Amino acid sequence: MSKRQLAMVIDINKCLGCHTCTIADKNMWLRGEGQEYMCWNNVETRPGKGFPANWERLGGGWKDGEIHLGKLPALEDYGIPWSWDWEQLPHIAPQVAPTWGPNWEEDVGAGDYPNVWYFYLARPCNHCTKPACVAACPRKAVYKRDEDGIVLIDQERCRGYRYCVRACPYKKPYFNAIRYKSEKCIFCFPRVEQGVPPACVGQCPGRIRFFGYLDDREGPVYKLVKEFQVALPLHPELVTEPNVYYIPPLSPPRVDAQGRPGGEGRIPVEYLESLFGPQVRQVLSRLEAELAAARLGKPSELVATLISNHRWRI
Ligand code: SF4
Repeated sequence: MSKRQLAMVIDINKCLGCHTCTIADKNMWLRGEGQEYMCWNNVETRPGKGFPANWERLGGGWKDGEIHLGKLPALEDYGIPWSWDWEQLPHIAPQVAPTWGPNWEEDVGAGDYPNVWYFYLARPCNHCTKPACVAACPRKAVYKRDEDGIVLIDQERCRGYRYCVRACPYKKPYFNAIRYKSEKCIFCFPRVEQGVPPACVGQCPGRIRFFGYLDDREGPVYKLVKEFQVALPLHPELVTEPNVYYIPPLSPPRVDAQGRPGGEGRIPVEYLESLFGPQVRQVLSRLEAELAAARLGKPSELVATLISNHRWRI
């Protein structure tokens, strides 16, 4: 346990799927050799295989109090970085036709027309309270900062053994084959130390991300996670205790053959339970009730927080 914990809340309902967060992060930290394939933050369309492909089936996390080492993803699971054929200007194309990449399944939905659905799941490192990556590293190169709970990899100590990649059930450490080191999202700690939020938070045009200390009672993160209890971690059953939380997606209503709305939502609640745990039903009910009240002009501090411009307090 760290003394304090920085945390993030991501409101899935407001995500545009524009990938500005991913590009802000890549521009800031991922311009070096060996980093071409990395997305410390990625945005994947759900349902889908995600990034790297089928990461939820690769294992990792904790089981019965023991660390579980999963499988290493192959480079193909991330997508082989494209090389451009500049000879073909102005109609440049990849030299080798790609078969997979980050968000390869962009906007691919599920369900039967007209009751189709999808949503975007943005995924940085969770800076977990019980980080499997920290526990797995035999070099003690991966550590959690006491002052803010940010999980970092000491680049001097790292020997590129990749236990962290195998142990992280979210597959958020990445191996740099050129530097022979593992690297991961750093919650933009050099910015945070200057009172500036991470790039993915600051640049998001949908304003979907909230950031701050989990124990800051005046901050939006505390309110959404602890007070209103409408933000849930991804795959809580993996027991790493993530510090990135999600406002789960509300469903568009199902429509009948004539296009008349009514009945249940389109996104199967069972699917959301598989991502966010059984509490998701209660959270969705709470969100719907508060939104209904707000539509009637009744005050809702929860809705006011979700649409507020005050998205971080560091
Ligand atoms: Fe470590 Fe993975 Fe948790 Fe990040 S998400 S702290 S890499 S276990």
